[in-house]
Amino acid sequence: MKITDPFDEFGCLLFDETLMQERLPYPIYKRWKETVAKEDSLDRNTADAIAHAMKRWAQENGATHFTHWFQPMTGSTAEKHDSFIEPDENGQPLVRFSGKSLIKGEPDASSFPSGGLRATFEARGYTYWDCTSPAFIRDNVLCIPTIFVSYNGESLDKKAPLLKSIEAISAAATRIVNIFGDKDVKRVIPMVGLEQEYFLVDKRYFEQRQDLVLTGRTLFGAMPAKGQELEDHYFGSIPSRVAAFMKEVNQELWKLGIYAKTEHNEAAPCQFEIAPIFNSVNIAVDQNQLIMDVLRKTADKHGFACLLHEKPFAGINGSGKHNNWSLVTDDHQNLFEPGDKPAENIRFLVFVCAFIQAVDQHAELLRMSSSGAGNDHRLGANEAPPAIISIYLGSYIEKVLNSLKGAVQTVEDQQDSPFTPISGLSYIPKDNTDRNRTSPLAFTGNKFEFRMLGSSLSASFANVVLNTITADVLNEIAEQLSDLKYKQDIRARALEICTQILKDHERILFSGDGYSQEWVAEAKRRGLPNIPSFIESVSALTSPKTIELFTRNHVYTEKELIARSEIMNEQYVKVSEIEAKVLIDMTRTEILPLVAREIQPLAATMQALDQPASYFQKQLSHLNELMDRMDKSADRLEGKLKEIDSVADYHERGIRFYYEAAPLMQQLRSAIDEHETIFDKKQYTLPTYEQMLFHSN
Ligand code: ADP
Ligand code: MG
Repeated sequence: MKITDPFDEFGCLLFDETLMQERLPYPIYKRWKETVAKEDSLDRNTADAIAHAMKRWAQENGATHFTHWFQPMTGSTAEKHDSFIEPDENGQPLVRFSGKSLIKGEPDASSFPSGGLRATFEARGYTYWDCTSPAFIRDNVLCIPTIFVSYNGESLDKKAPLLKSIEAISAAATRIVNIFGDKDVKRVIPMVGLEQEYFLVDKRYFEQRQDLVLTGRTLFGAMPAKGQELEDHYFGSIPSRVAAFMKEVNQELWKLGIYAKTEHNEAAPCQFEIAPIFNSVNIAVDQNQLIMDVLRKTADKHGFACLLHEKPFAGINGSGKHNNWSLVTDDHQNLFEPGDKPAENIRFLVFVCAFIQAVDQHAELLRMSSSGAGNDHRLGANEAPPAIISIYLGSYIEKVLNSLKGAVQTVEDQQDSPFTPISGLSYIPKDNTDRNRTSPLAFTGNKFEFRMLGSSLSASFANVVLNTITADVLNEIAEQLSDLKYKQDIRARALEICTQILKDHERILFSGDGYSQEWVAEAKRRGLPNIPSFIESVSALTSPKTIELFTRNHVYTEKELIARSEIMNEQYVKVSEIEAKVLIDMTRTEILPLVAREIQPLAATMQALDQPASYFQKQLSHLNELMDRMDKSADRLEGKLKEIDSVADYHERGIRFYYEAAPLMQQLRSAIDEHETIFDKKQYTLPTYEQMLFHSN
């Protein structure tokens, strides 16, 4: 048997830098490099030459079409395919792909959400090539990563603001690095590793559940009787069907040049995780979109449905997308690496303290950036971080920071002598595994892991926020250091600044159990925001503080932020409305008829009996009572939907959904779940939690 190297095909569908170097004339390649480094812009001839090479390569690899691949504000990706082939002037087929088609596209974008940014007189959106993210081939289509903007240049997507935020953090972080003496550093790039969690359920079950098909989550379902015991079932070896699925996922991702590393997740039955190796944030976010797409499509091929929703099953762990974030210079220094030289230590402290201040100042925004309607069901429930933002630094860093507070005294006392106030720092183990799994933001050795992000969301916005808030504080610190000439003065001032930051923002640091009720009370005492619902957090997007932050750093204009908040509100309302309607529909057309069908023979048997049997009586009255509850709850929910529908403002509607409709859905659900526990299993026509979670593979 011939054994093929599984990595032979690695990157074969990616038009990456190596390939560009190989296939482009050197001056063209050089121009492209300069463009990526923002030292130059792309001229028409260079674009034509790149397009030509790309087309040749794509054609050799079976691609017949190309598309500008973009990320509208729906949170997913969009594409419109154009074939390479067209008639020449003699009507003969010509394979063509011009630099113009590579650089710019004009999709008819009127059906993408714009939050009012596209005026009716200019309904078009424009896509522009993001030459920092490599093109790739998917299903015979050459996909070119692009940004998506309006005629007036306003961002209509998730990529353009991310690129702007990268510029902001790069400039600010470089400034600090340069102040600390490292003049060679020209750029600082946020690096991100995204761990993606997901569920796999058998497609047969999935298709029978209208709620899963239409909303991505189950709207009802009783918990299996023996959850713990069934967890043992889960811990067995990877079922062969899942293993085959994972193998194909890996192969697909490797072809796209994504360093995928799949692993079984220990958390919930049928739940898995895939984590590629970290990359620059722009590419990491693009790759994550591809990973979600590959997971869904591959699952389908293997008879599974891949659920990316944050909470497909109530009472079972939800899914997140852990966002591991660090800052790395163009000469590969990780700025969150504690290091072992005092000067580096101080620089490291400046970055950590800047991050602490940034998170404390913009906790509401961070909370918002990590969520959507789906994540509300996850945050604070079953092993998910709570909705309260806090940072866990680990005992080593905490010790260092505490010693820093003492060290300032020394600084003031002995201004002239060199000092090493944080000598303990060099002992920080690089593989800091001192983890607190209950913290939404944990320092893990040389990066921060943001664990709040929902599994179904684009990771873009959370990183826009991380980048921008940190850039903002770094700039503030740079201002305070810029008038100093001598290294020693810079260090002394930096330490003072760090100490002050710690004094002012200490409240955001928490190393205890983030899942406990005590923390909720403690956080309140500290004055930390605890925004229970996503919809309420949307207001953070348009607060004066946020508007100033984003405009000052040239990431969003006020208009763009208002548009985005409108889209968020509207999306939340739509999701909530669909869920409520599906629940009502399933109650009326599936559950209630099921109960009615069960009551009929029972009632008939009762009548036929000489003596009334107490079991039948009990069962009948219980079923009657449940039927009544379901019917009335469905009516009440429907009435509520009408009431909410008459409210004009989307935000207000969203709030009403959360506080008024959701509890009614819960009431309805509890009747349905209760019914499931007394119903004849053989007759229950909908796949149960037990079936979906424990018999899917
Ligand atoms: P865990 O599940 O313990 O959090 P994983 O290994 O599953 O860890 O995932 C960690 C993620 O963090 C991976 O994607 C990894 O590539 C990424 N990562 C590692 N180092 C860095 C770094 N310096 N910056 C950003 N991401 C990183
Ligand atoms: Mg993790």
